[in-house]
Amino acid sequence: MRYSALSVFLKGLSGNRDWPRAWRAPEPKPSYDVVIVGGGGHGLATAYYLAREFGITDVAVLEKGWLGSGNIGRNTTIIRSNYLLAGNNPFYEFSMKLWEGLERDFNFNAMVSQRGVLNLFHSDGQRDAYRRRGNAMRLHGVDADLLDRDGVRARVPTIDFDNARFPVKGGLLQPRGGTVRHDAVAWGYARGADARGVDVIQHCAVTGIRRGPGGLVLGVETERGFVGARKLALATAGHSSVTAAMAGLKLPIESHVLQAFVTEGLKPLVDTVVTFGAGHFYVSQSDKGGLVFGGDIDGYNSYARRGNLATVENVAEAGVAMMPSLSRLKVLRSWGGVMDMSMDGSPIIDRTPVDNLYLNAGWCYGGFKATPASGYCFAHLIATGEPHPTAAAMRLDRFARGLTIDEKGQGAQPNLH
Ligand SMILES: Cc1cc2nc3c(=O)[nH]c(=O)nc-3n(C[C@H](O)[C@H](O)[C@H](O)COP(=O)(O)OP(=O)(O)OC[C@H]3O[C@@H](n4cnc5c(N)ncnc54)[C@H](O)[C@@H]3O)c2cc1C
Repeated sequence: MRYSALSVFLKGLSGNRDWPRAWRAPEPKPSYDVVIVGGGGHGLATAYYLAREFGITDVAVLEKGWLGSGNIGRNTTIIRSNYLLAGNNPFYEFSMKLWEGLERDFNFNAMVSQRGVLNLFHSDGQRDAYRRRGNAMRLHGVDADLLDRDGVRARVPTIDFDNARFPVKGGLLQPRGGTVRHDAVAWGYARGADARGVDVIQHCAVTGIRRGPGGLVLGVETERGFVGARKLALATAGHSSVTAAMAGLKLPIESHVLQAFVTEGLKPLVDTVVTFGAGHFYVSQSDKGGLVFGGDIDGYNSYARRGNLATVENVAEAGVAMMPSLSRLKVLRSWGGVMDMSMDGSPIIDRTPVDNLYLNAGWCYGGFKATPASGYCFAHLIATGEPHPTAAAMRLDRFARGLTIDEKGQGAQPNLH
């Protein structure tokens, strides 16, 4: 059924008792044209666009937990397309355009809120770097405004402008950036894919990849038996190295933990997304009133979805340096997610050396904003065999060929990107 104001009204009249399930709970079939491993945002979006854009509906998404149990339901919900490099910018802007029409497209309220993303700068050198990034964005048709100190003050008066350890000199604003309710994105894509015939199968961990003559993938071993696949697509985020190893591949990826935090509910305090330029700290206010914030990854390899106190202290310090009033808030919850940090900080959407095995990985801690374009481009690759033009640089062999996409300029240091 289509969700609409009328359907909400009519179901309300009957006590909201007879809403149909948003998606089915099918048993796995013996085989599919395409099997996608990982029912996070990227796997579900891939299934949705395979069905909607390319008419491929004999598809299963196999998820070891429940929908939204991975990073799609753990991130700080920020979306933006404020990238510098040509290998990244058109892709993230494509994603932003998909976000802008997404709720109408999949008929689900994902609370897309284009409240702006503001990156603060604290020195002349940093201002020049942000100006350069803003100019690159504009050259790609992306919105970017350079604000001076007064412009920042008018927008976020709660920042410390009088006695700051790192005085704020201005900021780079992307007005179309913002936040999206993360788990609703998984639900919306799952519902849209299911309605087009895709089997979304939860609690079905893939435990092995079965290969036949010539090394071709025949299908996957799962907790619920063997499932055949003519094409196999991996979209397992923090566990990319684990699932790729099932096919004998070693990826240029390390897994790291990233934490996030939410405070008690407050009256409106920050109506945009703000990032601190003198440390790593980003904050926005959820529609429930809690401040949602985070910082750097913990810095050591881990598959644990919980972090360390040293990072909690580091994040809190940066937050209070930027906005001293935060020191009076109670943090209600913190959690962690496992990030697939690539060597250059940029993702991979590509074929692999195994002919019918496709890879979507290396999203580091910026993959939520990429969800729509990642799904679209991965579906394009699986359906046509050719990379989508906006994702053409996100190749697996770029590390061997020296064509890295090093947005931060940190070199081959996954924990620094
Ligand atoms: C704390 C935190 C804050 C973040 N903040 C932001 C942000 O503000 N903006 C942004 O753009 N990005 C952010 N990110 C990053 C973003 O969330 C991820 O890059 C993105 O969600 C990864 O893609 P996904 O949604 O497909 O991942 P996931 O939701 O993790 O999906 C992968 C799925 O694969 C499943 N899986 C793994 N192994 C198997 C197996 N063997 N069999 C079956 N299923 C398997 C997992 O259970 C999981 O559900 C953040 C991440 C974290 C943790």
